[in-house]
Amino acid sequence: MTCAGELPPIDVFGQIGDEYEQVVYCHDKATGLKAIIAIHSTVLGPALGGTRFYPYGSGAAALTDVLRLAKGMTYKSALAGLDLGGGKAVIIGNPATTKTEELLRTYARFIDSLGGRYLTAEDVGTTQADMDMIARETQCVTGTSPLLGGSGDPSEATARGVYWSMRATAAHLDGAPDLAGLHVVISGVGKVGSSLVHLLNGDGAKVTIADVDDAAVSRLVTDPNLDVQVADVHGVHAIACDILSPCALGGVLNEASIPALRCRAIVGAANNQLAAEKDADRLAARGIVYVPDFVANAGGVINIADELMGYHHERAMAAVERISITTAEILRLSDRDAITTVKAAESLAEARINDVATSKRIRSFGPPRRHGS
Ligand code: NAD
Repeated sequence: MTCAGELPPIDVFGQIGDEYEQVVYCHDKATGLKAIIAIHSTVLGPALGGTRFYPYGSGAAALTDVLRLAKGMTYKSALAGLDLGGGKAVIIGNPATTKTEELLRTYARFIDSLGGRYLTAEDVGTTQADMDMIARETQCVTGTSPLLGGSGDPSEATARGVYWSMRATAAHLDGAPDLAGLHVVISGVGKVGSSLVHLLNGDGAKVTIADVDDAAVSRLVTDPNLDVQVADVHGVHAIACDILSPCALGGVLNEASIPALRCRAIVGAANNQLAAEKDADRLAARGIVYVPDFVANAGGVINIADELMGYHHERAMAAVERISITTAEILRLSDRDAITTVKAAESLAEARINDVATSKRIRSFGPPRRHGS
């Protein structure tokens, strides 16, 4: 047996940074579960964020990813006006081979042990059926099927949020929130991108699409209600257009791609579109209006958050529409203070978190308990 004194020194708090409230390692030998739950902030409310099931090459890679994602959720929920904090979880393993009922239920009991500080949802590698399974062990789960009180697939809500963000961007560029006649190029027409095509065509925008999956393209091209042009995925970022909408992978805006861009603005659903922080400056230097992904793609989390009040579709969609107001405010602040849109978004989120943290000086405690009652 190894006693603690023999362990190599680990700078635990240095490793996770001093910004995170709680990081939980979950291990169960019998089921093979290895998971990490990261809670970045609960100032605004329970930390909500999905569970990513992914074959990380190392525990360190999983930790880095979950920390980054958890922090992103704090900003996303704060800007979306939700009473939710930021958190995220990762399960290490290949979902196709490692995922079992026992593993998911064991993981769910770890979530439950956090007493509501962390609420999970679907993410890469997990499905609505997995959330239904997790719901057997804990109430701290969203994104379950409608029969269990869930809101279903969030992709349409995400597409709606991107659409409202585009309208606010059009108003910023041209003075009116009108997409008619604007040329929008969408890279990636999966669940979110395809929904977005319908909304944009409905508004009279000219839409060009590109996707590595021919079937995804052909579903839209053959739809008699749609009018779309198809572009090659390789040159898609260099097409002259009004708005480029990355709806596939992260990291597409980088040192190499930014000089080739010929769009006026970027508004898309893909997470982590900027490869590096500096890319926000590169876009600003080129005069391209970039709506941060965590602002434009918040429709999904807004929709899911509504489940916590008993899901009501119209109320959720009204909240998603408010992404246009947030987008307009961020673009205005960015111009006013000559800062990047990312900085403007972060400072708006931090201001809300600080305001709420401060206002929690005044608290309510409910009626006092009396002896004999
Ligand atoms: P999806 O898997 O349904 O669609 C992604 C599409 O991108 C697929 O059709 C795929 O073939 C295509 N694609 C992959 N590589 C490509 C490439 N190099 N060039 C062009 N197309 C490529 O995913 P989705 O649910 O539509 O999500 C799209 C993006 O939005 C992801 O980054 C996701 O993380 C993000 N997002 C989604 C939601 C949601 O509610 N679904 C919410 C927030 C953020």
